Amino acid sequence: MDFSWTAEQEALRSEAKQVALDAVARFGRSNDSWINGFSKEFAKELGERGWIGLTWPVEFGGGGRPAIDRLIIGEELIAAGAPIAAMWFADRQMGPTLMTYGRPDQQAEFLPDMLRGESTWCIGMSEPNAGSDLASLSTTARREGDDFIINGQKIWTSFGAIADYCYLICRTSNDGPPHTGISEIIVPMSTPGIEVRTIKDMTTNRHFAEVFYTDVRVPAENLVGVEGNAFKQTMRQLEHERGGVDRLVSNQALYHLALAQADLSDPIVRQRVARIETGYRIGRILVTREVLHQAPSGFSAATKCFCTEHEVEVADFVSHVLGADAMLWDDVTKGLAYAPGYTIMGGTSNVMRNILGERVLGLPREPR
Ligand SMILES: Cc1cc2nc3c(=O)[nH]c(=O)nc-3n(C[C@H](O)[C@H](O)[C@H](O)COP(=O)(O)OP(=O)(O)OC[C@H]3O[C@@H](n4cnc5c(N)ncnc54)[C@H](O)[C@@H]3O)c2cc1C
Repeated sequence: MDFSWTAEQEALRSEAKQVALDAVARFGRSNDSWINGFSKEFAKELGERGWIGLTWPVEFGGGGRPAIDRLIIGEELIAAGAPIAAMWFADRQMGPTLMTYGRPDQQAEFLPDMLRGESTWCIGMSEPNAGSDLASLSTTARREGDDFIINGQKIWTSFGAIADYCYLICRTSNDGPPHTGISEIIVPMSTPGIEVRTIKDMTTNRHFAEVFYTDVRVPAENLVGVEGNAFKQTMRQLEHERGGVDRLVSNQALYHLALAQADLSDPIVRQRVARIETGYRIGRILVTREVLHQAPSGFSAATKCFCTEHEVEVADFVSHVLGADAMLWDDVTKGLAYAPGYTIMGGTSNVMRNILGERVLGLPREPR
C-alpha cells in the first residue's frame, strides 16, 4: 500500500487543475458545482477529452482508466467550482447503473451520448411523502400492452427542467412488502404528460423541480433491470452517489478564500484550520477506499456522512472568518446558506448513521 501519488498522477492533477481554472474563467465558479454549475458546452469538452466515462470499461466506450484518475480529475474540477453538472449524474451513476443492470440495446442507445457529454440525466426518486423512506413512494407505472403508464409526483428533482432523461424510481406493483414492487424506468423528459415546475431555493439556485406525471406513456422496454427489483438496484446506485470526492470538496474554494483572510495567529482559528485540514485528509482516504472498492459493503454511508459534515464545518469556518461580510448576499453567502443541503442530499446524516449501525456494525434495527 503506497499512499503517495505517482509522477503520472501528479501530472494528471496539474492538467485537471488547469482545465478547471480555465473553465471557471470562461463559465464562472459555482458552489457545489456538480449540481449548481451547469454548462452543456463544458460537458461536451470533457467528453472530447475522454474525461466522461474515464473508468468505464473500454467495451462500453469508456476509457478503462484507474478509479484514482477519476478521483483526481473530479477533485480538481469540483474543488475549483468548474461547471460539471450537465454530465455528472450520467458519469457517476446512470452510466454505471446501465452497464450493470441495463440490456445491451439500452447500453448501445444511451451510453454514447453520455460519453460525449450530450445527454443530461435527472433522478426521479424523492416524492412529497417519500424521502428517506424511499419504500413509501407512490408514483406508479402500470403496464398496458407494450407500454408503462406513469402517474404521480416527484420533488427535488435536480435538473428536472433541463434534463433529457429521467431515471425514474416508481411502483409497478403493490403486492408484498413496500420495498418490493419498485422498478426503474428511463423516461424521456419530452414525453407528453410531464409537467415540470422549477423550484427556486433560498440561495436562488434553480436546479430543483417538482415533476408531475399524468398518464405518461413510455415503452415497457425502458425498464432497467428486473421489474420489482429496483430497491436493490437503487441501493447499488446510491453507493456510487455517496462515496465519491464530490461529497468532500464541494465548497473547498470558499475555504481557500476564507483561509487567505483568516487571522492565523488567532489560537481558535489555528485549531479550526488544523481540524479542517485533517478532515480533508481523512475524507480523501475514506473516498479513496470507496472508489477502489475496498470499503465494506454499505460503508459509503459513513463516508458520505463524514465528508458532508466536514463540508458543513468548512461553511461554518468560512462564516466565522468573514464575520458580517458573510451576509453580503454574494456567491459566498449563497454558498454558506446552501451548506445544510450537503448532509441532506443523497440521504441525510441520520439515515447514513442508521445504515452504518445496522448494515456495517450489526446493531439492532431501529424500531418501526
Ligand atoms: C441539494 C439537493 C439535491 C437533491 N437532488 C435530488 C434529486 O436529484 N432527485 C431526488 O429524487 N431527490 C433529490 N434530493 C432530495 C433528497 O434525496 C431528500 O431530501 C433526502 O432523501 C431526504 O428526504 P426528505 O427531504 O423527504 O426528508 P425526510 O425523509 O422527511 O427527513 C426529515 C428529517 O427526518 C430525519 N429522518 C427521517 N427518517 C429517519 C430515520 N429513520 N431515523 C432518523 N432520522 C430520520 C431526517 O434525517 C431529516 O432530518 C435532493 C436534495 C438536496 C438537498
